[in-house]
Formats: sequence, C-alpha cells, structure tokens
Amino acid sequence: MAFKQRVFSGVQPTGNLHLGNYLGAIKRFVELQQSYDCIYCVVDMHAITVPVNVWGGPKELVRATREVTAAYIACGIDPKQHIVFNQCQVSGHAELAWVFNCVARMGWLGRMTQFKEKAGKDRENASVGLFAYPALMAADILLYRATHVPVGEDQKQHLELSRDIAQKFNNDFAVSIRERGFGDAFFPQPEPLIQGPATRVMSLRDGSKKMSKSDASDQSRINLTDDADAIALKVRRAKTDPDPLPHEEKALEARPEADNLVGIYAALADITKAEVLAQFGGAQFSAFKPALSDLLVAKLSPITAEMRRLKDDTAYIDSVLADGSARAQALAAETMKAVKDIVGFVRR
Ligand code: ATP
Ligand code: MG
Repeated sequence: MAFKQRVFSGVQPTGNLHLGNYLGAIKRFVELQQSYDCIYCVVDMHAITVPVNVWGGPKELVRATREVTAAYIACGIDPKQHIVFNQCQVSGHAELAWVFNCVARMGWLGRMTQFKEKAGKDRENASVGLFAYPALMAADILLYRATHVPVGEDQKQHLELSRDIAQKFNNDFAVSIRERGFGDAFFPQPEPLIQGPATRVMSLRDGSKKMSKSDASDQSRINLTDDADAIALKVRRAKTDPDPLPHEEKALEARPEADNLVGIYAALADITKAEVLAQFGGAQFSAFKPALSDLLVAKLSPITAEMRRLKDDTAYIDSVLADGSARAQALAAETMKAVKDIVGFVRR
C-alpha cells in the first residue's frame, strides 16, 4: 500500500533550546516544508519523563512549551501551511502509546541507549515513562502515519524501534488489517532523515558528549536565547587542540573538538566541511573562532529577536497551538478509529 508522504517531528519543552536542536532538527524542519506536509509537535508528554525537579514543574512546562513554539515560528515554520501543536492536546498520542506498549517488547526497550544514559546508575528509580519513551515516540509518528522523520543522530535508535513497532503491529494484526481493507500494512515504516554536517553537535566543553539541554554547564552549549556577547565568550572558551585547522576533512576524524566547530560553521553557512577547510585550512583557532562567532551571531540574532517578541505574545502562541491541535486531532481521530477496529476494541 502506498502511504501519503508526511513529515512528523518534535522537540521537548525542557531546559534551554540550543544550537544542536536548531542545526540537527529545527533548521531541517524549516527546509522540509517546501516538499512535504509537515506536523511539528512540542512533545510535552515526553518532557515529564524525567524527575519533576529536572523538568521544572508546571510553570516551567508552560513557559518552555511556549518558548519551543516561538522558536519553531521564529526559525521559519509556517503554522498556517503546516501543523504546529503540543502533544497533550491530542489524546490519540497517549491512546496509541498504550497499544504500542503492548506491542513493543521489554528487551527492545531495555537496549535503548537514551534510557541507559538518562536513567544513569539508579535505574530502579527511573520513571516507567522514561523506559516507555520510545513507544510514545513511535505513537507520535505513527498516529499520523508519517513517512519521514527529521531528527538528530541521537534519535536514530528510537526511529529504528518505531519501525520495529510498526512492523510488529502490521504482523500481529495482519488478518484484521486486511479484513478492514488496509491491505498488507496499516502503518508505514517511517524513514529517519538524518542529514547534513551537524547531525550531532557536540558539547563545547567535551567533544565526546552531545550538546544537550540537560547539561549542567551552560558553557557547554549555545542557547537560542544567548546574546552576541555570550556567544562570543562561549566560542572563545570552547575546548580545542593546539594545532591549526587541517586542509583535509579526513584529518578531522581524530580531532573531535575541531570537527565539531567546523561542522557547526558548515551547517550555518550551508556549505560542506570540505568547503570550510578550503577557506580555513592552515588557520589557527585564534583566527577561526572569531569568524565562527560572527557567523553564529549573524544567523542566530534575528531568530533570537523574533523568539523574544513572540514569547511575550502568549495569546498568539496559545492560539497557534489550539488551531494546530484541532487540525492534528482530526487526522489522529481517523487513525485511532481504525486502530481500535483493527485491535478489536468496541467503540461508538
Ligand atoms: P534532552 O537532553 O532533554 O533530551 P535534547 O537537547 O536532546 O534534550 P530533544 O528535545 O530531546 O533535545 O531533541 C529535539 C531534537 O533535537 C531531536 O531531533 C534531537 O535528535 C535533536 N538534537 C538534540 N541534541 C542534538 C545535538 N547535539 N545535535 C544535533 N541534534 C540534536
Ligand atoms: Mg533528547
């Protein structure tokens, strides 16, 4: 069966949106609007999977939900042409996640590196929601039978799990799916879209760790709300090695911090790493870093200014989310009716 091509992705309303979220995810979301129908979600139900003191409590969740929505729009997502909404306003996410909790196997979820990293040593004390996170993520995508999912490299494993869940659902209910006229498969196999020079932006303090909202050190990341001075200071302090930049991309493989800064430059300038090195090969970091700061400020400051303006207009932001939720709900309702029939849940 041919599925309608559709993009779905999300960002959690937790902590500070950073350059990794922008280059790995939101910038790609904007580009994909040209070629697909897109649904972009603020995944508030995912946000509460960590302890309440980490996600910050009700007031912080409201603030961060509006901030991510403002960031989507400030970066160039068109909420009229596409759909922007927050997850909890469409109940199908939770309903389908329950069905998927019963399709996914403990062993599959137990292998997820995000769970291992976020749960840390004290796994007994992690929430059930953190363990089941990938089943909810599969539900987010498949509720809209989305075919393409732009994400950063860190979400590759979860996307593979979404594909496994879709496949197992299609197999477990194959007879019912066929009887209801859906052919061989009710759910598509969603394709991850992980492309470009910045699919995994690393911490500015440690080239072996990804830049993350949850990193305790603010120096580790460029926030989308940082001003020009903060950006310049963080780039100046970013960890590097003492050698000049190489001429060949291959030589970056053994130099994670240099590779990271070159990748950031390439993604912001919309060129390849090789093209960055053609320009800066042989240069010292003392010359490259100011050029990188200038580029960051030039690209991010219009976004930051627009985010700040939009964030204060809470009536507008909430109306975008309400309108998007209503349109998402209409699509989700169709899927949930079919899923209930396929599974054998009697319904009105
Ligand atoms: P947390 O640490 O709380 O999980 P996060 O920074 O990973 O926060 P998410 O909301 O989980 O942010 O992820 C939103 C999107 O940003 C996802 O597509 C994810 O793959 C992408 N992303 C997150 N961090 C990076 C990064 N360092 N480089 C590239 N993409 C990233
Ligand atoms: Mg994450």
